[in-house]
Amino acid sequence: MLTHDEFKGFDHKFVYDQWEGLGRLVSSPEGPSVEPFQKRLGTSTAMGHRVAPGGVQLQSLRAALKEVDQYLKNARTVLLLQNISRMPEWDATLSSALRAWAIDPSVITKGSVVFLVTDDVTSVVDDFTRDFAVVISVDPSSAEERKALTTRIARELEIPVSPQRCADVVVATAGLNLHQVESVLLESYHRKREFDLDIIKELKSELVKRSGILEVREPQNSFADIGGYQAVKDFIRKFVINVLKDSERARRFALPLPKGILFFGPPGTGKSLFADALASEVQLPFINLVTENIYSKWLGESGQRMKSAIRLAEKMSPAIVFVDEIDRFGKRGEAAVGSAGEETKRVFSQFLEWLGKPDREAIIVGTTNVPEHLDEAFMRTGRFDYKIPFLYPGEEARLDILKVHLGLKPGTRKRRPPLAMEDEELEQFLREEVVPATKDFSGAELEELVTRAKRRAFDRGADALEEIDFLEAVRTFRVDHRRRAQVIEDTLEQARRFTDDQTFLDALQEEMGVKI
Ligand code: ATP
Repeated sequence: MLTHDEFKGFDHKFVYDQWEGLGRLVSSPEGPSVEPFQKRLGTSTAMGHRVAPGGVQLQSLRAALKEVDQYLKNARTVLLLQNISRMPEWDATLSSALRAWAIDPSVITKGSVVFLVTDDVTSVVDDFTRDFAVVISVDPSSAEERKALTTRIARELEIPVSPQRCADVVVATAGLNLHQVESVLLESYHRKREFDLDIIKELKSELVKRSGILEVREPQNSFADIGGYQAVKDFIRKFVINVLKDSERARRFALPLPKGILFFGPPGTGKSLFADALASEVQLPFINLVTENIYSKWLGESGQRMKSAIRLAEKMSPAIVFVDEIDRFGKRGEAAVGSAGEETKRVFSQFLEWLGKPDREAIIVGTTNVPEHLDEAFMRTGRFDYKIPFLYPGEEARLDILKVHLGLKPGTRKRRPPLAMEDEELEQFLREEVVPATKDFSGAELEELVTRAKRRAFDRGADALEEIDFLEAVRTFRVDHRRRAQVIEDTLEQARRFTDDQTFLDALQEEMGVKI
């Protein structure tokens, strides 16, 4: 990509590549090419290991950087570093070389330049060096570009790739730029001698994660792993899953596809779990937008980060884009002043614009504990198709959640611990003893309760979980009921304010035994 003959004014042009070692960029009538760099023997301690007739070729990164160092300081030199992301030595060696060159007066006065192609800026360029560097992000590739690249690499490596596999690779690498696609394909070939989809997906998740703003993962849960919340399940199935699964029919009805859903309610009530299960039910990738990393410590970069996140998420869509604690940038940031305030506003409006975009392919699922803090513009009809409240589970739901975490519920992937009672007997015990004693517990707390019961059984050297383990776990589990009563009241009030579907609210009232 960077082996272009654009560096005419430079006295020396070097390229370093993990596979090829150090080379010189040369121009010829046929175009630019790279010739291996030969270090003459006897001048200094050569660290390279490929011996060639004209000298020693420098293969190791350390040796190459050391060699080029003199050139950068003594003449106008350009160094391109590429394909180096998987080298064990690169972090420390490269970071310290870049840091030293960034402030070296000779390098600066000679006008020497170092280009680094990487998918992981933060681990090579430290905060200090970054102030002297220009970071240019490369756009994700188009499907045609990825197809052409996949075909070319398959031809070069002489591996047979069926049209179906090629199409799958194009989909699996969506969201990556061409440099990344190339390294993912080469790595897969290196490991398995083929383009293996599982390896490609795994490498892609790693690459995307390194951006620090998005994480892609396969959904882990289905609706069977969610205890209770039948009204929410029915609603989501009817208005989101069924529509997405039969989008052709929806189009015929000119029915807009759901694009944004907001889950609100107290912590631990299963909002993230529902988002994950939704992705699994509609068989779409689950992309997590890491909100805490959007606001960058480098002033002026948050807007850029948000832009890249949106661009990348769109390229990987259709997908469920999960935005936990959406309130982090769901308010205008009136409190912040100066440039930090400007930055907050910029991120806010970028997100808002994305949310309101009619042709958006990403389905945004946001969660918040404090919907009342969200800016009004967010809550306006059209931004989120549905706003769904999550209350504390009622009696039936609590029993169901306990059953999920004890592996008693059909279809759940949760493991069943050894139990001293028959299933029916245990269920009756849970219903009569545990459910009444766990009023206002969240799903997360019920899961924790099961863990504590298991821990207790383990600790006392038992072979299986017994009633006493549950009773002790309940007895010692502290929940602030006074404070919780207030939270429940607040959530009901928010449900009244934000949720506009009365049929859903009626079903919810009936299931949860509350008055909305
Ligand atoms: P927060 O607002 O703190 O992000 P949340 O509402 O998103 O919380 P989750 O993270 O989904 O809550 O819940 C934490 C864990 O609690 C889940 O991973 C799951 O194991 C358990 N849990 C919560 N609700 C349920 C449920 N209805 N059925 C089964 N497990 C549940």
